[in-house]
Amino acid sequence: MADTRRALIGAAWLEAGETFTVHAPATGEPLARVADCGPELATQAVDAAAAALPGWRAMAAHERADLMRAAARELTARADTIAATMTAEQGKPLAEARGEVLSGADHLLWAAEETRRLYGETVPGAHADNRIWLLPEPVGVVAGITPWNFPVSMITRKLGPALAAGCTVVLKPAEQTPLSAIEVAEAFVAAGLPPGVFNLVTTSRPAGFGQAVMTDPRVRKVSFTGSTEVGRELIRQSAHDVKRLSVELGGHAPVLVFPDADPVAAARAVARSKFLNAGQACTSPNRIFVHSSLAAAFTAELVRQAEAAELGPLIDEPAVAKVSRHVEDAVARGATVLTGGRRPEGAGTFYPATVLGGVSEDMLVCREETFGPVAPVLEFDDCDQVVERANATPYGLTAYVWTNDLSRTVRVAEELQFGMVTVNGGPLAPPQAPFGGIKSSGYGREGGHHGVADYLEYKYLSVGLG
Ligand code: NAD
Repeated sequence: MADTRRALIGAAWLEAGETFTVHAPATGEPLARVADCGPELATQAVDAAAAALPGWRAMAAHERADLMRAAARELTARADTIAATMTAEQGKPLAEARGEVLSGADHLLWAAEETRRLYGETVPGAHADNRIWLLPEPVGVVAGITPWNFPVSMITRKLGPALAAGCTVVLKPAEQTPLSAIEVAEAFVAAGLPPGVFNLVTTSRPAGFGQAVMTDPRVRKVSFTGSTEVGRELIRQSAHDVKRLSVELGGHAPVLVFPDADPVAAARAVARSKFLNAGQACTSPNRIFVHSSLAAAFTAELVRQAEAAELGPLIDEPAVAKVSRHVEDAVARGATVLTGGRRPEGAGTFYPATVLGGVSEDMLVCREETFGPVAPVLEFDDCDQVVERANATPYGLTAYVWTNDLSRTVRVAEELQFGMVTVNGGPLAPPQAPFGGIKSSGYGREGGHHGVADYLEYKYLSVGLG
């Protein structure tokens, strides 16, 4: 096992005294020990972020942008190393991991450019001798909490806009994937980021970190990505001193394949988004509604794609247990396993790409987030009613539509109650577009100028000319 990896607080890489072990999901073997920071170290990190705030927010925008660009260059130069670490601790294939690091760098570059567009506003005065301006100001110290499924891009999607806005950050990565987060922090240090602007607190006891930052009045915003359950708890805690909060939570994405769509193109795209990261994505298609006239062609291609898909292991044993439970429940209620559906023998938390036919909405796969490589196919005949069925979920993150009918595109896109709708494919998280959900999928946006605005306050300044 490698040496103990440390937390970054201010200018120092710190030992925490206690450590926890990170395991490789592909083999179950230990990979490294990591500093297990208690709440007092979270508070020390807030001290460091608060001390660094005045200098960082006062820095000229182009200087902040230069440092962020340097960090993006460092990430890009280290992409192979960081990807190898991510694959070891999280399990996704190397090419996906490398793509994620490069996309993380791209988010930083985009946010760096936004520093030069933090415009204020001039508002007509209330009378002739009155002038009114709106001045964008950073919200202050930000705490970020990220999940394990995209261990690097979740961090850069918070750091980019926060740093661009002039905020300083204390970030806690998921306990399953702290090693790639440490390598991201090393890249920022190498880029010359001033001490305290980005602090990384690793811990196996997330509730203690949560309490420490949620009750610290110097932390003015918390940006969280993870489960709806933890998100709800943080929303409750944020009431304590009325903190700003962004919560990117779970999802239960529907796919709607209408009778005028190309079933083969749709099946290929659905397979790409379904089996990405072995289905461990909040945007993963979870209810695939296919018009009965296309069901045979669509399902045959989806099965072909599933059988050709390259999947890493799931994150841990509970993840495999949940996927198995969902598949067994579906079969018990009348679904058919068209491919996959059985955990392979041997080490590691692997589960094959699985396609289920004959699925209905009473099954667990339709009601809970499976967070695994299971593609449930439901047939429909009524094109109006299917939108209602798609909306019948507490979540509202992503919906995918396949149609070549323009009127239907517009009508259905307007009726779907989701933060993001894609029609006939297209990326979900490019840096220039706001990513985020509604309903139990959370609030706040990451990406685009909306994402940066989430880290800004607009101060109202009124001047009387006397
Ligand atoms: P999780 O909520 O268990 O953990 C997420 C993060 O919260 C981790 O860093 C964890 O250590 C921390 N955490 C756990 N309990 C906490 C507490 N009491 N106080 C403070 N922090 C705490 O989620 P997970 O299982 O790691 O991730 C999967 C979930 O994340 C899924 O539901 C998925 O849909 C969601 N997700 C959402 C998005 C999005 O953008 N909407 C993106 C990726 C993942």
